[in-house]
Amino acid sequence: MNMDFTPKKDYFSPMHTAEHVLNQTMVRLFGCERSKNAHIEKNKSKCDYFLPQPPTPEQMAQVQQQVNEVLAWHLPVTARTLSRAEAAQIPGLDMSKLPADAGDKLRIVFVGDYDACPCIGAHVENTAQVGQFILSSWEYQEGRLRVRFKLKDPCDNKFKTGEKE
Ligand SMILES: [Zn+2]
Repeated sequence: MNMDFTPKKDYFSPMHTAEHVLNQTMVRLFGCERSKNAHIEKNKSKCDYFLPQPPTPEQMAQVQQQVNEVLAWHLPVTARTLSRAEAAQIPGLDMSKLPADAGDKLRIVFVGDYDACPCIGAHVENTAQVGQFILSSWEYQEGRLRVRFKLKDPCDNKFKTGEKE
């Protein structure tokens, strides 16, 4: 069993945090599952979702708008170590991506009360640091929606408390 909960993935933390918000937004708007094969890079990322029919351009515009609204709430991003039983109490928590050897203690990452997800990656401390979410393109083919996105003006530094915008 792996008992080391320090973040292991060296994802660019603003981009990786944006992925959490995007996943939850897709779940809420389309009722689909979170992306299971995200490719997160510093400059551009992509996520795949499985939908029974293609989204409309209006729906995809809504995805971008809702992600940016959530980021603008300046939600704290926190990680807590919970047992599987405790994690199971969190409504909607998707544990299907967990590796088989994840053990009983799970690191759950919370984006305010908008999203909760088991994750060992590195994240920003506040959604204010993610910058602006830009949905650069999307394509739908045979039930798979591929979304490409990037960030404008992300901030990888520590969030300055008391800073006003
Ligand atoms: Zn994460």
